[in-house]
Amino acid sequence: MRIVLISTPIGFLGSGKGGGVELTLNSLVSGLISLGHSVDVIAPKNSKFHDSNLKAKLHIVEGEDQISWQHQDYNSPVTIPDNSLLAGMLEKGLDIAKNADVLLNMSYDWLPIWMTLNFEIPIAHIISMGSESSVINNLISKVYAKYPNNFAFHSKMQANDYPYIKKPTIIGNGFNLNNYIFQDSVKGPLAWVGRVAPEKGLEDAVYVANKLGEKLKVWGYIEDEIYASNIEKSFSQGAIDWMGFLSTDKLQKELGKCRALVNTPKWNEAYGNVIVEALACGVPVIAYKRGGPSEIIQHGQTGYLADPDDKETLLYYANFIEKINRKNCREWVEKNASADIFANKVVNWLNKVIIEYK
Ligand code: UDP
Repeated sequence: MRIVLISTPIGFLGSGKGGGVELTLNSLVSGLISLGHSVDVIAPKNSKFHDSNLKAKLHIVEGEDQISWQHQDYNSPVTIPDNSLLAGMLEKGLDIAKNADVLLNMSYDWLPIWMTLNFEIPIAHIISMGSESSVINNLISKVYAKYPNNFAFHSKMQANDYPYIKKPTIIGNGFNLNNYIFQDSVKGPLAWVGRVAPEKGLEDAVYVANKLGEKLKVWGYIEDEIYASNIEKSFSQGAIDWMGFLSTDKLQKELGKCRALVNTPKWNEAYGNVIVEALACGVPVIAYKRGGPSEIIQHGQTGYLADPDDKETLLYYANFIEKINRKNCREWVEKNASADIFANKVVNWLNKVIIEYK
């Protein structure tokens, strides 16, 4: 198959601004290449692939980013800036896709989804978030009525946000396991990893570490400075150890030294890449039973799940997290979320999409 992939229109690959989509794209590309497919990726200027993806073709586009939908009102209209990066990536993608089997869109935005109805080539969409915009939700519903196969989701809980999709295609996610080393560090610190933004609920994880008299190690791109500084102010000085945004290789080395990851999303997390990355290093996860994390974590086997927003229960589990056998964590990822498993699911789905157009 020749696949043309459209990256997120928010931040270049490697910036952290695009969140989990950046890593998902890299894992997907490496899985597709190892299965023998050809991949062209259209991505913003300054984007870089992981080393394992040098066989894929990277086409760079310059332009203005989109505004992230999770930080706009649900009923906001679509905004397309002058010199739009998204429009530029789609123009280039459409041009290359004339000689390809499918255009695979990984941006959560209106324009590429609208194009499905108005272009003859197959355009398939990996929806990377729950329902964060009424205008996109309504458009997905309209496109779905004509092309029911063209959408895939990361988890069942995420797909529940789109109730008109009767039998959603669930592809999970995948990780290049060679990039993650197992570490048996049962005595390490507590970790939190993610974009530092309100929907990620960092404050609840700081609460847990603080109650235990520990500093929380925090890795990730600070998207919302005011939110970050408000959390800092609401706890005693030095409650957070800000570790910055690291490349996957450096992040996994540090994360593997931790005794647990605390994951505290306040929104319907579509999947939760950081959970699987922690598990791949042998790090169990304590999380809220909300969105993708509730499908990934095996309660009592690879971590613990607390009721949404119940930070006292998170704290309770943090007291005996070392009882989890760290090998179970790594094994779960090997059996369920490798890059090859993920790429196979995506290829099976894309084959169904393509057949509709023949
Ligand atoms: N991440 C990273 N370096 C860091 C912290 C985070 O590369 O120091 C990446 C992490 O690997 C993951 C992404 O940031 O792929 C966060 O994705 P997730 O699915 O957890 O949440 P999203 O940001 O998409 O809501």
